[in-house]
Amino acid sequence: MVLKLETSLIKDWKGYKGRPFLISGPCSAETEEQVMETARELAKIHEVAIFRAGIWKPRTRPNSFEGVGAAGLKWLSKVKKETGLMVGTEVANEKHVYEALKHGVDMVWIGARTSVNPFTVQEIADALKGAEVMVFIKNPINPDIELWIGAIERVAKAGIRKMAAIHRGFSTYEKTTYRNQPNWQLPIELRRRIPDLPIICDPSHIAGNREYIHEISQKAMDLNFDGLMVESHINPSVALSDASQQLTPNELRELLLRLILRSPSTSDQKLLDVLGELRQQIDVYDDHLIDLLEQRMKVAETIGHYKKENNITILQSARWDEIVRRVMIKGRSKGLSSELIDNIFKAVHQESINRQMNVMNEGIENHNGSDK
Ligand code: PEP
Ligand code: MN
Repeated sequence: MVLKLETSLIKDWKGYKGRPFLISGPCSAETEEQVMETARELAKIHEVAIFRAGIWKPRTRPNSFEGVGAAGLKWLSKVKKETGLMVGTEVANEKHVYEALKHGVDMVWIGARTSVNPFTVQEIADALKGAEVMVFIKNPINPDIELWIGAIERVAKAGIRKMAAIHRGFSTYEKTTYRNQPNWQLPIELRRRIPDLPIICDPSHIAGNREYIHEISQKAMDLNFDGLMVESHINPSVALSDASQQLTPNELRELLLRLILRSPSTSDQKLLDVLGELRQQIDVYDDHLIDLLEQRMKVAETIGHYKKENNITILQSARWDEIVRRVMIKGRSKGLSSELIDNIFKAVHQESINRQMNVMNEGIENHNGSDK
C-alpha cells in the first residue's frame, strides 16, 4: 500500500538549497562557546541548511553527560540570529516540545529511542499540533518499518506539513564494523510506501566512527536520499558525547567535496535508449527467475506428498546442508557473493518448507472441524 500524507515536498521548503539537504552540528550542545564556534564555521559551508545540537541527551547509562537542558536553547536562538542558519534539536517528551517551540527552533527531531514508543510519539505529536516547525523522525532502534511509519503517521495527523524521515541505522547484538546496521532495504521500502516523504541519512550514528562517514554518505546519495545529518564539533576529541563519530567543520567541507552526486534520471535520449534496452533484459531475466521458482516449488510440493505418504519429517537437516554446500560452491564459481546465495536460498528453503507444511496438513482441518 502506498501512503499519501498531507505534507509538502522538500524542494518547496524554506531554506532548501538542493541535494544534499544538510543538517549539521554537534551531538550535544556543551557550552555557549562550543556551540557558537561550531555554528560560525558551519555557516560558511553553503550546503548546511540547519544547525543541530542535542539539548536533552538520551544516554545508554545514567551518570554520563545528559545534556545542558533548556539553557542550551538560548544558544540555539543566538546561532539563528547571528548566522542565519535554521536550528533544530531532539525532543523526547511534550515538555521538550513546548520549550523548543518557545525558543523558536525551526526543526525538532524525534530520536531513535523515542520513535520505538507509540505512547511517547503520540504525546509529542499532540504537543506539536498547529506548530509551523519542521519535524524529522528517526527510525526506531529496531528494524521495524511499521513502527517507523506509525510514528510518521502520528506526526502527520497532528497537521505537520514539513516532515522527513531520518535513517540512522538499527541496533544489533552482534559486534559489527558499524555502530548501527544500515539495513538499507528499510529506507528503500519506506520510500516505496511513502514516495513523497524526504529521507535524510544520518551517517554519523550508523558509522559510530568518523572513518566510515564518507562511504555511508556516498551510498545514501547513490540511493537518492534527499539529505544528510552529520555530527560536527569544533573539537571532536573533547566532545562530551559521540566523540569518535564527529567531524570538524573542515572535515565536513572535505567530505562534501568528495561526494559524487549522480542524478536520479536523465533526459539524454541516447542514454535513455540504452538504459531502456538493458531494463528490458532485466525484466526478461526476472520473468525467468519467477518461472524457475514456480517449477522448483512444484517439485518441493511433490516431495512433500512423498514425505507425507511415507511419514517422514519435512525438515531433513543433512539434505539442507548438502544443498547449501553445493549452491555456495557453484555461486562462488559464477562470481556471486556468499551473502546473495545465502539470502536467496534461505528464502527459497523457507518457502519450500511452507509448501510442504501445507501438503502435510491438507485435509487435516476438515477432519477435525477446525475453522482456522
Ligand atoms: C543524536 O542525533 O544525537 C541521537 C541521539 O541520535 P539517535 O536518536 O539516532 O541515537
Ligand atoms: Mn549523537
